[in-house]
Amino acid sequence: MNKITRRNFINGTLMAAGASMFPFGCTSNAVLDSLNPLYYPPALTGLRGSHPGSNTHAHSRTWDKKSNWGPITDLKEEYNLIVVGGGISGLSAAYFYLQKHGNDKKVLILDNHDDFGGHAKRNEHTINGKTRLSYGGSQTLVDPHTGGALINNLLTELGIDLERFKTAYDRDFFKKNSLSAVTYFNKETFGEDKVVNHPFCNYPNYVEGLPGAKISNKEAVQQAPLSEKGKKQLLQVLNGGLHKLKVPKAELQEYISTHSYFDYLKNTLGVDDPGVMKMARNSGLDWASTGTDLMTIASAKSCGALGFAPVAVYDENNPYIHHFPDGNAGLARALVKKMIPHIGKGNNAEELVLLKFKYNELDKSSNIVRIRLNSTVVNVQHGGDPKNSSEVFVNYISENKSYQVKSKGVVMACYNMMIPHIVTDLPLEQAAALRLQTKSPLQYTTVGLKNWRAIKEIGMGLAMSPGKMHQAVLMDFPVSIGGYEYTKTPDDPCVIQMISCPYGTIGAPRAEQFREARYKMLGLQFKDYEKEIRGHLSSMLPKGSFNFDRDVESITVNRWAHGYAVGGPGNSTKIGRQPFERITIANSDSAPSADALVAIKMAYRAVNELG
Ligand SMILES: Cc1cc2nc3c(=O)[nH]c(=O)nc-3n(C[C@H](O)[C@H](O)[C@H](O)COP(=O)(O)OP(=O)(O)OC[C@H]3O[C@@H](n4cnc5c(N)ncnc54)[C@H](O)[C@@H]3O)c2cc1C
Repeated sequence: MNKITRRNFINGTLMAAGASMFPFGCTSNAVLDSLNPLYYPPALTGLRGSHPGSNTHAHSRTWDKKSNWGPITDLKEEYNLIVVGGGISGLSAAYFYLQKHGNDKKVLILDNHDDFGGHAKRNEHTINGKTRLSYGGSQTLVDPHTGGALINNLLTELGIDLERFKTAYDRDFFKKNSLSAVTYFNKETFGEDKVVNHPFCNYPNYVEGLPGAKISNKEAVQQAPLSEKGKKQLLQVLNGGLHKLKVPKAELQEYISTHSYFDYLKNTLGVDDPGVMKMARNSGLDWASTGTDLMTIASAKSCGALGFAPVAVYDENNPYIHHFPDGNAGLARALVKKMIPHIGKGNNAEELVLLKFKYNELDKSSNIVRIRLNSTVVNVQHGGDPKNSSEVFVNYISENKSYQVKSKGVVMACYNMMIPHIVTDLPLEQAAALRLQTKSPLQYTTVGLKNWRAIKEIGMGLAMSPGKMHQAVLMDFPVSIGGYEYTKTPDDPCVIQMISCPYGTIGAPRAEQFREARYKMLGLQFKDYEKEIRGHLSSMLPKGSFNFDRDVESITVNRWAHGYAVGGPGNSTKIGRQPFERITIANSDSAPSADALVAIKMAYRAVNELG
C-alpha cells in the first residue's frame, strides 16, 4: 500500500450577511485598551473564516490599487518587531523573537480579522446552554513527532503533551456507535436521495478509527442510484484498470505520472456515465491542490480517488489524533497565552481548552506583545534607503481610518502573493516571484445539532456527498480533553463538519478554477448557505428522525477564499521569501505547505533572518 499523509495535498446564530465588521459594537482597534469586554469572536456564528469586511481593504489595495487612505494618524508607537498577520506563523514569529532577543522587547501583531489565529479558527456553538467546540480551518497537528527539535521544544514550552492525545482521542467512538464511511447520492444529481454504506474512495480514511465500507463493492454498486450502464462502469472502475493501459511494465510509472486521470477513466475504462464521472470528480477533495479533473493517474492513485484501493493514510507511529476540540486554534491560543498571560488562567494548552479568553487584554499598552485585530496592513516601507535604514514604517487601516506605527524590523506573516502590493519597493524579481504564489479556496462549515439520533440511525461517520456544495459531512473528531467532553450519546448535542472544496469549470487551469470558485463562494450570502445546508441534511437524513428547524441550533460557514498554500512554479517560492533588509517573510506560503508545523518553521527562519 502507498503511504501518504494529509501533508501531501498539497454570520449571528444565523446572522445574515452584511453583518458589521465589529459585531460587538467595539470602537476602532487602532488605539486600544478599548476593546469592549464583551468582544468574543469565537462564539460568533454565521459567515466566519474570512468574515465579511475582513478582506475589504486588502482587496481595495490589490484590485483597485488604492493608495490614498485619507489622513494618516501617527500613533507614535515604536516597536522592536511588527508582525503582519496573526496566524500560527505570525504568532510563532513573535514568540521566537522574544526568545531570541529577550522578553522585554516590544512586539505588535496586526491582523485584518476580528480574531487571531488566521486559518486556525475556534468555532463555539451554544446548544441547549452547553458550549460545543469545533474548528473553522486548520484542523490537526500532522505528524508532529517528525517536526524535529524546534517543534518539540515549542510544543513542550506551550504545554502541548502529544502523548495526551492517545487517550483524549477516542478511537473506538465510531465502532461503538456503528458509524462508518458512507456515500449520500442526492436527487438532483442522481435522480434519487439514497445513502449507501460505502465511501467509493479513500477520502474518509484520514479519520482515525472510522470504519470504511460496510458492504462489498458489488453490493454497493447494485445499491447506487445509477443506470445499469452506469453501474457496470462503476464496478469496472472499482475493480481497477491500470493493467488495461497498453504500456510496457517498465514505463508504467512514467506513463501514469504524465497522463490524465480523467482521460484514463474515459478512454481506457470507457466511462461516460455522468454520475460515475461526478463521483470521480468529488473523490479527491482537498488531498491535492486541484480537483481530480486536473490530476494525473499517479496523483489520483496516491490520494485514493475513485477506482484506486484505499491507501494507508497514517501508520501506527503517526496516527491522525493530535487534534484539540478547536483544532489548531488550540495551538494558536497557547501561543497567545504565553505572550499575553493576563488573557486568562491556565498552565498548559490542555487547561486552556475551555477558557474564554479576555480579548480586551490583547492590545493593552502595558503588554510586551500587543495583538491588534481588524487592522489591515496596506503599506510597509523602510525609512529612507532600505540598505542603510534603521526603521520600518507600517501603515494599516482600521474602521476606515489610516494609522502609522514604526519598528526596527518587520516579519510579513500574511499571504505571500499580497506582499508586493504592501512592500512596494521590493526588488522586481522578488516581487514577481511573490505574485506567482497562490492559495486554494476551501470552506469548513460547522453545524450545531441538538442531537445526532438521525445520524446514528443511518450509521454515518462521514458521508461523501458527490455533487453537493459540501462534498463531505462528518461527525467531528471524538476528542475529550481539558474538561471538554465529546458528545457521548446520540441524544446529546454535537457539532458536525461539512467540508467544501469548491472547484471551477472542469478542465480549466488550476489558477482559473481557484478564481472562479473563490468569486462564487464570496458572492453567496448566509441565506444561500443555509438553504444549501438545509437541503443537504434534510434529504440525507431520515425524515422521521431529523427536522432541520427543530434539530439545528447554529451554523458557522468558515469561508477561506485564500486557503491552502499552493506554491508558484519552479524556484519562485524561494526567490519570493528572501529577506529584504529589515523586512523578512514567514507564513506557510513560504514553504509552501498547508501545514501548521511548517508555518512555525517559516516563522523561525524569518526571525533569524532579521539578525
Ligand atoms: C480549511 C483549512 C484546513 C486546514 N487544515 C490543516 C490541518 O489539519 N493541519 C495543518 O497542519 N494545516 C492545515 N491547514 C493549513 C493552514 O494554512 C496552516 O495550518 C496554518 O494555519 C497556516 O498559518 P499561517 O500563519 O502561515 O497562515 P494564516 O493562518 O493564513 O495566517 C495569516 C494571517 O495574515 C492575515 N493577513 C493577510 N494579509 C494581511 C494584511 N494585509 N494585514 C494584516 N493581516 C493580514 C491573514 O488574514 C491571516 O489571518 C488548513 C488550512 C485551511 C484553510
